Amino acid sequence: MYLGILKESAVGESRVALLPESLKALVTQGIAVNVQSGAGVAAGGSDAAYAEAGATVTADRGAILASADILPVVNAPGEADQGRLKPGAVMIGFMKPLDEPGALATAIERKVTLFSMELVPRISRAQSMDALSSMATVAGYKAVIDAAGLLPRLFPMLMTAAGTIPPARVFVIGAGVAGLQAIATARRLGAVVEAYDVRAAAGEQVRSLGAKFLDVDLGGINTEGGGGYAAELSEEALDRGRDLITKTAANSDVIVTTAQVPGRPAPKLIRRTAVEAMRPGSVLVDLAAPASGNCELTKPGITQIIGGVTLLAPMNLPATVAVDASKLYARNVLNFLGLIVKKGELSVDLGDEVLAGACVAHEGIPVNPRVAKLLEAAQSTHSVQGKERA
Ligand code: NAD
Repeated sequence: MYLGILKESAVGESRVALLPESLKALVTQGIAVNVQSGAGVAAGGSDAAYAEAGATVTADRGAILASADILPVVNAPGEADQGRLKPGAVMIGFMKPLDEPGALATAIERKVTLFSMELVPRISRAQSMDALSSMATVAGYKAVIDAAGLLPRLFPMLMTAAGTIPPARVFVIGAGVAGLQAIATARRLGAVVEAYDVRAAAGEQVRSLGAKFLDVDLGGINTEGGGGYAAELSEEALDRGRDLITKTAANSDVIVTTAQVPGRPAPKLIRRTAVEAMRPGSVLVDLAAPASGNCELTKPGITQIIGGVTLLAPMNLPATVAVDASKLYARNVLNFLGLIVKKGELSVDLGDEVLAGACVAHEGIPVNPRVAKLLEAAQSTHSVQGKERA
C-alpha cells in the first residue's frame, strides 16, 4: 500500500501533512511512503530526514498522486491533482466541505473517499484527531504575538526608576479554543485581559485564565449549538453584543476576535464605530477573516490602517508557525490514520462514528447529507448555466 505526501500548493501554505517523525508507525506496517521533494522543508522536515525515516523522496508529483492509496493533505489539492488520483484512494485533510464543496467534485467523480478534518466529531475519543483545535490553538497564540509586535506599547506593567508603565489592555471576542489561547498568551505577556462569548460555559474558562468575563444579558435565549459550538443568534441578540464591544473597544489596546458559528459566515460583531473608538496605534486581529470576519471593515487577507488602528485579517496564521503547526497536525492525522489502517491495509468502517462523522464521500458517493445537498445545488446551478450557454 502506498501513502503520498505532497508539497502543499495553496499560496502561503508552508505546513505539511506528515513529518519524518510521523513515518515510523507507517513504515513498520509495510506501507510505502512517497514524499514530494521539498514537501516539508518549511515545516522542519528535510528531504534527507524523510528518506532516513524510510520514505522515497521524488520530484514526480504526478506519480505520487497516481500511486497513493492514502493521501493525507493539509488542504485539498486542486482539480488537476484530484484528476490523477486512483479510484478507491482515501484523501484526508482540511477539505472545506461546507464552504467549497464544488472544489471536491473531481475527487468525488473519481470515486475517491474523502475525510474532512473539519468534520471530525468533537467527542472525547476523537480529541487526539481534533485538528481544528490544534490549529486554533496556534492561531490564538500567534494573533497575540503579532499584535504585540505591532503595538507601540508594552504589554506588561513596568515599574521603573523612570516611572510606571501601565499594562496593555487586551479584549478577546469569542472564548473558544483560539480565544482561550489568545487570553493565556496575552496574560503571560502581562496584559490585562477581558473577554466576551455568548456561551455561558466560556465564562468559567476565561476567569480560570485570570481574565475578566464580560457578560451580556441576552434575555435567556439558547446560545449553545451542538458539540460545544455556539448557535446562530438573532440580530437583536447580536446587537447587544455589538453594544458591549463598542463600549469595550474604546478602552482596549488590542482586540483579538475569533467568533464563529460552524457552516455560517462569521457574525459581524465589531461595528465601524467600535474601530473608530479605538486609540490610534491600537491593533485589531480578526481571526474570523477566513469566514469573512467579525469586523464590518475586515477585508480578508488584507492589512488596513483605519484612523491609526491596524486591522489584521490573516487567512492562515498556523502556516506562519509551520514547524509546530505541522507537528500538531501530523499527530492528528496519524491518530486518524489509526482508525482506517489496520496491519498495513486500508479498512474503512463507516460504522465507526468518528469515520462516519468525518466522511464527506465514500468511493464516489457523498455521504455527508449537508455536503450532498450543497453539491447537488452546485451541480444544478452548473447545469442550468450550461443549458443557458447552449
Ligand atoms: P468556533 O471556532 O466555532 O467559535 C469560536 C468562539 O466564538 C466560540 O467560543 C463561540 O461560542 C464564539 N461565538 C460564536 N458566536 C458568537 C457571538 N455572536 N458573540 C461572541 N462569541 C461568539 O468554536 P471552537 O473554538 O472551535 O470551539 C468552541 C468550544 O467547543 C470550545 O471552547 C470547547 O468548549 C468545545 N470543544 C469541545 C471539544 C471536544 O472534543 N469535546 C473540542 C474542541 C472544542
